[in-house]
Amino acid sequence: MALYRLILFFFVLSLLVPSLDASEGDTDPIYKACLDECEKSGCVGERCFQHCKFSSDGKPIDGPWYLQEPLYQKWKQWDCRSDCQYHCMLAREEQREKLGDKPVKYHGKWPFRRVYGIQEPVAVAFSALSLAMQFHGWLSFFILLNYKLPLRPNKRTYYEYTGLWHIYGILAMNFWLWSAVFHSRDVELTEKLDYSSAVALVGFGLILTILRVFNVRDEASRVMVAAPLIAIVTTHILYLNFYKLDYGLNMKVCTAMGVAQLVIWGVWTVVTSHPSRWKVWLFIVVDSLAVLFEIYDFPPYRGFVDAHAVRHAACIPITYICWSFVRDDAEFRTSTLLKKMK
Ligand SMILES: [Zn+2]
Repeated sequence: MALYRLILFFFVLSLLVPSLDASEGDTDPIYKACLDECEKSGCVGERCFQHCKFSSDGKPIDGPWYLQEPLYQKWKQWDCRSDCQYHCMLAREEQREKLGDKPVKYHGKWPFRRVYGIQEPVAVAFSALSLAMQFHGWLSFFILLNYKLPLRPNKRTYYEYTGLWHIYGILAMNFWLWSAVFHSRDVELTEKLDYSSAVALVGFGLILTILRVFNVRDEASRVMVAAPLIAIVTTHILYLNFYKLDYGLNMKVCTAMGVAQLVIWGVWTVVTSHPSRWKVWLFIVVDSLAVLFEIYDFPPYRGFVDAHAVRHAACIPITYICWSFVRDDAEFRTSTLLKKMK
């Protein structure tokens, strides 16, 4: 089947793509020398940084005692070290580019160019657009159910998955918000919030997939499906936040839950006669292509657009297709139930 071939293809591809040393750039002797020099002098070439005039607790090193580093800068964790790392990285990458060398990672991250202090402006823009698209999709679903489709005598919707899709919409908007924050400024707190909300979203997506695909409608069965998955997701979030922020493990957990959803939906599109099943197919194809970008982790083009940013860009049409299917599904289920009642 095409879907299995696609998954096999990604798996083989992931084995073929050479795994880059996460910190090739920061072991470079020229970069290290620049960093040592910068932390002593507070300058890289002609450029000097005001943070290097303060010690790590915000007290001035050789200025008057009453001068303090502004609080908002301490919160953002912009200090001498991070300024030096950033500018030494840019200086080293410029040299490497002149020699025709490809960009390498520094401290596990690609060398991005900041814009107004925003670390990855393109990823932030795509996250913000995805957030807007999620809001639009969720709002149109809300309006359709409450104002366009008929309601039961007790004012509840005929569609049995309304509440679940509302939770999904809220978790998705929460994820895109923290994604935008994390890509603006990458510190431990924003990274934890981004990872945790991603796991919550993917985990809930899996629950929703199982409940919708297998038509689980009574409360007791829903609880039986959801409880173990909620337990796994909660444990994983606690592990990431309070034990170890393990990027590799998190990637595996999210990929496993994501692939499981794609496979379940993929099988469903083959066996169902749902009028909008082609939208689910489209969703699976675009989402699989997006995963391909995540695996083929290329460096940022001109210091701005890397594989992860492209993946976030792909989520904009994916979100649109997803909510378009959900609206169709709500209409389809409602009309089916009304026909049965007549
Ligand atoms: Zn991201």
